[in-house]
Amino acid sequence: MALKDYNEKRRFNETTEPEGKTKKSKDKLIFVIQRHAASRLHYDFRLEMDGVLKSWAVPKGPSLDPKDKRLAMMVEDHPYDYKDFEGNIPEGNYGAGQVEVWDSGTYEPLEETKLTHEKELLKELHSGSLKFILHGKKLKGEFALVKMKNTEDNAWLLIKHKDDFAESPYDAEENTSQKSLVTKFLEEKKSPKTKVKKKS
Ligand code: MN
Repeated sequence: MALKDYNEKRRFNETTEPEGKTKKSKDKLIFVIQRHAASRLHYDFRLEMDGVLKSWAVPKGPSLDPKDKRLAMMVEDHPYDYKDFEGNIPEGNYGAGQVEVWDSGTYEPLEETKLTHEKELLKELHSGSLKFILHGKKLKGEFALVKMKNTEDNAWLLIKHKDDFAESPYDAEENTSQKSLVTKFLEEKKSPKTKVKKKS
């Protein structure tokens, strides 16, 4: 089963994360990027493929700067419904911390082939070089995910191609909402005893 690893790592009577079930978009393939304050802050980059979300943890976050080659560690497939997951994963659970959706949208393969979009993407995934176009709110245009050779099996690089949507320098943290609950969570973790006094 595609989501065996995902289900085995989680206790669904404790976490509000969705249970692992396969599902597909009716029309266009979707992507989501979640900002996740776990033992370390990272971004989770997820592409819908074959009824699941193929997932990579990106420690420094995605970039629109073609000069940045972001390390992206491939992790277990996540269920399609994870695209909407935001909230707290309780202490003692896998990935404990705070999660929020940082960007989302649809995506398509860069190459126009005779294959369906999904088949083309799966073929590229298995070959270790995936080229695609993101239609997000923050991330737009051409990107590549390239598997690193001579290194750990699950290490990939996320790279922005040069196009009209490229932007340098780029910092995902600076493109995060002021109202971010993940940022609030991180600040509270840093100074748990600090409480803002209300002016009366
Ligand atoms: Mn994560």
